[in-house]
Amino acid sequence: MRIGVDYYPEHWDRERWEQDVKLMLEAGIKVIRVGEFAWSLYEPREDVYEFAWMDEIVDFFGKKGIKLILCTPSATPPKWMIDKYPDILAEDIHGNTKLFGTRKHYCFNSEIYREKVRKLVGLIAERYGKNPYVEGWQIDNELGHGNTARCYCEECHHKFIDWLEEKYKTIECLNKTYGTVFWSQIYNSFNEVIVPKAGTCYDFDSGTQGQNPSLLIDYYRFCSDSIISFTKESTELIKKYSDKPCTSNLLDAAVNSGTGIDYFKLSEELDFVTWDNYIEFQWGKAKMETVSRDHALLRSYKKKPFWVMEQQSGPCGWSKMGPSPDPGKLRLWTYEAVANGADTVVYFRWRACTFGAEQNWHGILGHDGKVNRRYDEVKQTGEEMERLSQKVGTLMPKARVAIIKSFDTEWCHTIFQNVEGFQYDNLLLAFYKPFYDMNISVDFVQAEEDLSMYSLVLAPALAYVSDEAKNNLESYAAKGGTLVITFRSAFKNEYNRMLPETIPGPLAELTGVEVKDYDPQFDKSTSVAGIFGSGTAKLWCDIVTPKDAEVLGLYTGSYFKGAPCLTRKGSVYYLACDLDEKAQGNFAKYLCRQAGIEVGLYVQEGIEVVDTTDGEKQVKFLLNHNNYDTVIALTQEYTDLLTDQKVVNTVKLEAYGVAILGD
Ligand SMILES: [Zn+2]
Repeated sequence: MRIGVDYYPEHWDRERWEQDVKLMLEAGIKVIRVGEFAWSLYEPREDVYEFAWMDEIVDFFGKKGIKLILCTPSATPPKWMIDKYPDILAEDIHGNTKLFGTRKHYCFNSEIYREKVRKLVGLIAERYGKNPYVEGWQIDNELGHGNTARCYCEECHHKFIDWLEEKYKTIECLNKTYGTVFWSQIYNSFNEVIVPKAGTCYDFDSGTQGQNPSLLIDYYRFCSDSIISFTKESTELIKKYSDKPCTSNLLDAAVNSGTGIDYFKLSEELDFVTWDNYIEFQWGKAKMETVSRDHALLRSYKKKPFWVMEQQSGPCGWSKMGPSPDPGKLRLWTYEAVANGADTVVYFRWRACTFGAEQNWHGILGHDGKVNRRYDEVKQTGEEMERLSQKVGTLMPKARVAIIKSFDTEWCHTIFQNVEGFQYDNLLLAFYKPFYDMNISVDFVQAEEDLSMYSLVLAPALAYVSDEAKNNLESYAAKGGTLVITFRSAFKNEYNRMLPETIPGPLAELTGVEVKDYDPQFDKSTSVAGIFGSGTAKLWCDIVTPKDAEVLGLYTGSYFKGAPCLTRKGSVYYLACDLDEKAQGNFAKYLCRQAGIEVGLYVQEGIEVVDTTDGEKQVKFLLNHNNYDTVIALTQEYTDLLTDQKVVNTVKLEAYGVAILGD
């Protein structure tokens, strides 16, 4: 484990590099990410390529002992290219062309753009592919960020038609699958099929309400596939010249719900995944459990350690700034990432830029480039990490609980939100939070993957259940795994159509219930009571009939008072409604006991405890997110891996403090 920085040497005078690299080395920085957004330096005019500037960067920093991650600069096609090939520009959902002036203004399906990217990436890979200082590659930047995954231009339209033809073969098949007989939408040929822009008829807030839901989900898949194929093209080119690993910097789940990329599929094209972790910035402050959830997602996409490629290191924002991180928070956030499976934490950025759109986006150093308290904190962290990495290998939490996440389901629930307030990622977070609160690690999984290492699996609102998923869940439960299925599950097919069977169609046998009716909690709520105590459903109530399941909870309000809200058949639970935070917490505790997962006597608010292993050694992280000192009770004797002192009975943590304990 180690630290790095995102660095833009081309933004600074050459004379400054000497001082920068000296400070970096003194702070324990081992790796820099460079070359992001630098297309107009690499190719200032069409087919005129300049590499001397990057040769000098790679050589200078490499010889000083710093490894480099080289980026493909495809997120910023330069002005000459846009002027000569304006068709490269993407078109938004309202039919407006995105313009030059910021970044990410291109269409992933533009043949000219793709060709230009291929040529430049090929040349960069050929030039630096075998360079001993280059440790890896980053493809593009934050793919899909800022609503850029879905383009609605003519070129996308043509490619979408090809994509549909490949999938459905005949227009009759598409018509039947989509149900285009509804609202007189029957197509006579693939060429007639539209891309689902906003305002075709009803332009409500979601932009596409009223569009055919099967067409919408196919378009979402097509756009996700387009970005994945773009990524694959770059990684394959690089691999022709280099055996170093490729990655891309992903985004957190809250933002990712808007990026529209299936991260499980995207991750298949990457050797390792990384993400950008901004916790307190212009656009808000993340809750502790959401940061933990995002780290958990990242370690889950490839089932292996990940990097934070951009870790916040100062006050951040574009027009405005978020707060300056309190002393101790940079170190705390770094160890939080390491505890949750990060192998390398790269701070964004080395030094705040004095020009351009991100002047307010502070790095470790401020605009003046002088050593400050943030630098001192990073230096302390770098030194500690160096010592730590001599004692233990890369650490991963030992999760026995998993939550199923499905991008198909996410898109089903985005296209039809079910009821006001229903948001799939928020629901996953509501299931994640009680385990976070109990210091129990949770992985995210796909419904089709091997679940045998988990004692408890939760599948919130899994709208679409494939045959493979059905068999997998049945076999998991048959082997005694504790499984939770909930409301709004197993009611759609892969084409985003309602199933004609009684809900939960393919999971009816497994759960032992039938959903006879349901009551969306629009402008109302319903009280419930059961093994989780008493509580309230605020989003959704299924009214179920147990066939061969026992009843563990009941509705105590509404016209369906007395009907079950929670049932169990064998080790499979059916939760028919959402629960408030307290009841959800109690339910999680109950499930842990049923699944044989130990729950501590009590937890301390604001203290995150993560039990990890490097495969041999056990390491416990204690992370104090509070702005005050506290004392934590221990159940055994440990060695503090940072101080080498024995720790017995208790450990004291200062505000935002960290303890890393070995057996
Ligand atoms: Zn396009």
